[in-house]
Amino acid sequence: MEIRPIKTKADNKATYFGSCLCGTAKFEIQGEFDCFYLCHCQHCQKDTGSAHAANLFSQSAKLIWLSGSDSVTTFTLPGTRHNKSFCQFCGSALPGTHDTDLLVIPAGCLDTDVCMSPTAHIFTSSKADWDSGLEALPKFKGLPS
Ligand SMILES: [Zn+2]
Ligand SMILES: [Zn+2]
Repeated sequence: MEIRPIKTKADNKATYFGSCLCGTAKFEIQGEFDCFYLCHCQHCQKDTGSAHAANLFSQSAKLIWLSGSDSVTTFTLPGTRHNKSFCQFCGSALPGTHDTDLLVIPAGCLDTDVCMSPTAHIFTSSKADWDSGLEALPKFKGLPS
């Protein structure tokens, strides 16, 4: 099910909803995203188990936990600014605040459609060896039969 962002006429700010895989953590984001980066750094490869992270960033949006806020754990890699918020039950990536007030929202945890296209690929100097020419691969709508 796709949920479209709700624009309230009063301030024209979008509201987005999101949740983790097990459904314990649910949240709402009020406001707009500033940028949307696909990060190919080695830390993001480890913490996503994939080619890159896909994170939305906002300095003005507000994060409101609707449920399960006490199930959210944040890990900061010692000696770095890399951190990740996730559900302690299912491990799904969840929004978190980096540094003072930069909100980072993993795009995949949103249940609302994201109106923004990714802004850029970043840290491509450390991208995985297998992460190239992926657009050319055969595509299946489900499992290959
Ligand atoms: Zn969960
Ligand atoms: Zn990264």
